[in-house]
Amino acid sequence: MDVLVSLCKRRGFIFQSSEIYGGTGSCWDYGPLGVELRNNLTRVWWRDFVQVRDDMVGLDASILMHPMVWKASGHTDKFTDPMVDCRECKLRFRADQVDEQPWTHYCPATKGNKFTIPAGEGCRHCGATRTLCPECGKGELTAPRQFNLMFKTFMGPVEEDATLTYLRPETAQGIFVNFDNVLQAMRLKLPFGIAQVGKAFRNEITPGNFIFRVRELEQMEIEYFVNPHDTVEGRPADEYWHQRWIDEYLAWFERYGMQRENLRLREHDKDELSHYSKRTVDIDYRFPMGWSELMGVANRTDYDLKQHAKFSGKSLTYFDEERKQHVVPYVIEPSVGVERPLLAFLADAYREEEVRGEKRVVLRFHRELAPIKIAVLPLLKKRGEIVSMAHDIRARLARNWRTVYDDTAAIGRLYRRQDEVGTPYCVTVDVKTVGDPDKGEAGDGQVTIRERDSMEQVRVPAAELESVFAMLLGETPWPEVAARYPRTA
Ligand code: ATP
Repeated sequence: MDVLVSLCKRRGFIFQSSEIYGGTGSCWDYGPLGVELRNNLTRVWWRDFVQVRDDMVGLDASILMHPMVWKASGHTDKFTDPMVDCRECKLRFRADQVDEQPWTHYCPATKGNKFTIPAGEGCRHCGATRTLCPECGKGELTAPRQFNLMFKTFMGPVEEDATLTYLRPETAQGIFVNFDNVLQAMRLKLPFGIAQVGKAFRNEITPGNFIFRVRELEQMEIEYFVNPHDTVEGRPADEYWHQRWIDEYLAWFERYGMQRENLRLREHDKDELSHYSKRTVDIDYRFPMGWSELMGVANRTDYDLKQHAKFSGKSLTYFDEERKQHVVPYVIEPSVGVERPLLAFLADAYREEEVRGEKRVVLRFHRELAPIKIAVLPLLKKRGEIVSMAHDIRARLARNWRTVYDDTAAIGRLYRRQDEVGTPYCVTVDVKTVGDPDKGEAGDGQVTIRERDSMEQVRVPAAELESVFAMLLGETPWPEVAARYPRTA
């Protein structure tokens, strides 16, 4: 994880928020490359799950909502985590996660020697399993108390209970309260989904592991409404769609670069299920700190729509033409943040390789996620014609793809820098491209394209770059395109 955190800072992906003031716990800022990666991730998600499907529509609900929304959804009363405090160092921990971290122990059997014991293990000398503070190892922990994770704020200039509201802790409720608006406006037929991407806020007790657990997060949520009376392929529609969404997401994560062996499913036990859930399955990822939840797919039944109907007094039903009756749809909720997949895609893309006796760090990002698609590099920055042609090519390609120009080092170094941020293609302009008037040599107008993963290079007429990159950054694989052009060393 430290390697990723340091790469992210050094190369402009992710910075600690308010760093010059000492940083803000659990808040992160996305730098020039981070913002491209984030935008690519949400854009690809929207395209694949909304744009190309005929059973999905989008929504962008506000962050501040009527406080009754949170009463109805259960968040005011139940969106809590059990917390414990250390009586000595005053640090606060999530009671259900204390045993998931290494702990500091002053062992009485070894005259109080200090040990750091791995998560979940006991002391080999005195047999103690942790009862004291995992951080300082000295303080007793208080009994667990429930802590509400919602951030409070006040609507308007007067800070009083009547104006109290919350920053939304999830985007889902914005979808439920707009169910009827969307249904009527779009004349939808079940099953259909409403999707939204937006910020959510959780006052997490123990944020950490870089961007894995943050207090200001972004969610990409889908509420998929199904008719509970329908059956699909012999199964109740809600159960069929629940499994279908789990499978679709597994395939989606793999498609953009997560390896299958780094993904696993975790079924929630009955006693772990949320109050609204019939079945919940987490998709876990093998993060650098171990297996943890990447996303959750829950069958929320008709709980939310019924709750909002009860609290608002408005009918939130769907008219089933076939059965001539109003039904309250069941909801399948695939819910994922932006930060956790971003971290997982980063971790899966990171490779250290040895090339001709030297270490090469490369981010093997899927081309659609890569923050920069093409880097245009002049072989000699002292030659005016080379530099100006490289600038022209950058400007041409940048109309369609994020393209950068760089001449701040020798070519080998420039390639390594682009490898390290995951740029799939480099274009190099050299002396042969522009020719050498002193020697009476005309340029051939061809440039070199280098592919990041294979490091293979081909010579391509500069005039064809748009059509070549339309293929390479579309669906045509490198070997197929490369086969049409001469190789260079
Ligand atoms: P956890 O058990 O890890 O706290 P959760 O079960 O509370 O997560 P959900 O309420 O199901 O999470 O939220 C759906 C998704 O939103 C998560 O799977 C995750 O991708 C993302 N998410 C939730 N909380 C955070 C957070 N604090 N930081 C980053 N992403 C988050």
